[in-house]
Amino acid sequence: MRYVSTRGQSPAVGFTDAVLGGLAPDGGLYVPQTWPTIPPDEIAAFAGQPYAQVAARVLGAFAGDEIAPADLRAMCEEAYATFSHRAVVPMVQIGPQTFIAELFHGPSLAFKDVAMQILARLYDHLLGLQGRRQTILCATSGDTGGAAVEAFRGAKNVKLVAMFPKGRISEVQRRFMTTATEPNIACVAVDGTFDDCQAILKDAFQDQVLKQAVDLAAVNSINFARIAAQAVYYFTTAAALGAPDRAVNFVVPSGNFGDAYAGYVATRLGLPIRRIVAATNANDILARAFQTGRYARGAVQATLSPAMDIQSASNFERLYFEGVGREPVETTRAFQAFANAGVVDIPPAALATMQALFTGVAIGEAETARTILVTLNETGELIDPHTAVAVAALRHVALEGPVVVLSTAHPAKFPQDVAKACGVTPDLPRGVATLAGRPERFDHLPGEAATIKAYVRAFAEA
Ligand SMILES: *Cc1c(COP(=O)(O)O)cnc(C)c1O
Repeated sequence: MRYVSTRGQSPAVGFTDAVLGGLAPDGGLYVPQTWPTIPPDEIAAFAGQPYAQVAARVLGAFAGDEIAPADLRAMCEEAYATFSHRAVVPMVQIGPQTFIAELFHGPSLAFKDVAMQILARLYDHLLGLQGRRQTILCATSGDTGGAAVEAFRGAKNVKLVAMFPKGRISEVQRRFMTTATEPNIACVAVDGTFDDCQAILKDAFQDQVLKQAVDLAAVNSINFARIAAQAVYYFTTAAALGAPDRAVNFVVPSGNFGDAYAGYVATRLGLPIRRIVAATNANDILARAFQTGRYARGAVQATLSPAMDIQSASNFERLYFEGVGREPVETTRAFQAFANAGVVDIPPAALATMQALFTGVAIGEAETARTILVTLNETGELIDPHTAVAVAALRHVALEGPVVVLSTAHPAKFPQDVAKACGVTPDLPRGVATLAGRPERFDHLPGEAATIKAYVRAFAEA
């Protein structure tokens, strides 16, 4: 299995290099050169299979011969054993033909765990095969850091430095990072905003001396292995509802478009999906793109669903590449234009192919809060604000057949907002409840790139 860049200027690479490399050297995103497929009878047989078994099959289609099947199976079993629910991604029915898939039973209570838990094991394994060690630097405004720390703590070949803006993330979010005791994890509270952290991150990745010295890597959502891991629950949930004989619909709370794009990947593998609804909050770049054909950045607004407060959806480039018939010159032109001017007009033929599968819906703050209350009243289910955006989107689209709404965070990650919306304060699940009592460990540094880069280097070389 080979991977090509959406910009067409980098050589094709194998699975290992696509995973460990992240972004392609030409600035594009890796996609499989040809899409593997899973036959319909195998998809039907996924119904009720252990989650780890389906994950090994789907990821194996992308890894090709670069990972031994038994190793991949063992990594998947370990990754999903960290989830507190034996089904890993259980479903709850909330109405006729309408189901919620709970993606939040992982260690940090957010759907990022589903991909990050397996990604960490893939990294450690692939680096071990090469006798290589990497240092991962990440900047977090909330969920990604906690999921990364939970996934990479104890890894043999990876050290992780997680930066967060001091005083600007919630206590629960901070504690998911700072209570890790493993020596390969370092947390840094940075004086400044999340944008300052992002700027430091960018500076570090542009510093070739540092990059070489510590073999610097990132684990952001453009990594194709994360996308592949997210395609898995489209299969498990759809098969449970009668796929491939019945085509299922999905409603996906969307920000960077990794999760919804993973649904597209599932269709390329052979899963029939009738429609994917990309539900956004007021940061509606994706909703507008699918509605109007104009992919245009707006100003970022703070909302009740902060993990989706994004106005440039990185993974959209992958769908665009497919939409324009895998034409790298046109993809490069479009995304350079987007970087410069913040706007791309999607060619009509490409838009038509996108609209054949995707619908975009944007939901405002009042409707999000009201949906938390109405869902509790009508079903007894307490949902978080990200999930509420997707449930609210159901009222704006007519879908035929079964619908799966992806629930991306546990309500206890956003206790104040949930309580304000519906009057009920969600409890932290058992196991996580002890977080509050555990000692924290982090360093506090000024928001200066030079200081933080020196810190990363010293930590990596210690
Ligand atoms: C990251 C995240 C999202 C958005 O997913 P994308 O893949 O970026 O579209 C939605 N909800 C929660 C809780 C998240 O953490």
